[in-house]
Amino acid sequence: MIASTSTEITGKIHSLESCGTVDGPGIRFVVFTQGCPLRCLYCHNPDCRHLEDGKEVTVDDIITEVQKYRSYMEFSGGGVTVTGGEPLMQPQFVAEIFKRCQELGIHTTLDTSGYVLIDAAKPVLEYTDLVLLDIKSYKPDLYRKVTSVTIEPTLKFAQHLQEIKKPTWVRFVLVPNLTDPVENIKGLAEFITTLDNVEQVEVLPFHQMGIYKWEQLGYEYQLKDATPPSPELIAKTIHIFQSYGLKVQC
Ligand code: SF4
Repeated sequence: MIASTSTEITGKIHSLESCGTVDGPGIRFVVFTQGCPLRCLYCHNPDCRHLEDGKEVTVDDIITEVQKYRSYMEFSGGGVTVTGGEPLMQPQFVAEIFKRCQELGIHTTLDTSGYVLIDAAKPVLEYTDLVLLDIKSYKPDLYRKVTSVTIEPTLKFAQHLQEIKKPTWVRFVLVPNLTDPVENIKGLAEFITTLDNVEQVEVLPFHQMGIYKWEQLGYEYQLKDATPPSPELIAKTIHIFQSYGLKVQC
């Protein structure tokens, strides 16, 4: 994974998307990294779990692809987003991608669960313009149920982002009968009000589009009977966040 010169740094990716529109501002070149320590019940990329399953590429390979789409990024106010999987499982790789992008004047966005040691994330954050922080629930027991891991590292990471004044969007996936308890949403909203670096909250309605991957991989998909949230539930959730003075996108 680590080689002798910066241009030879390699990492494991799942895939690349040339013109993404949902992972940060404008039109974005999106790098999906391989490997994730979480096991979110609604994950639509369960094939990203294991680092060793990824395709090995160099930072140069990524930057060569990125350059082909610069004009789209420039006219739309977009840039490069690294998501996953969990990008911070490969901090040296992601830091080098972002460093090279910033040298080219390209905006960089990191999409992360924040389930990471802060010291490992620091070299990446140095070259990150915007963080999309996925906080998958606020109540600790519910967070664990949704992700299989504890919430504390994510909350600490959120507080670190505030300390370094890193522009951040918080993302929350709304799943009926799972993440939608009012107290869960209010707790998250109240926590976000303590972070003055958070520019907006994105409410992402649950969908089952990744279910076929779970079936192909032979994993048990526990949300088979879950439905997308109704317009009323979405409106109610947005209203809760707004009632705490937060800007909300959906
Ligand atoms: S953090 Fe993202 S990639 Fe990892 S399990 Fe959760 S939804 Fe899937």
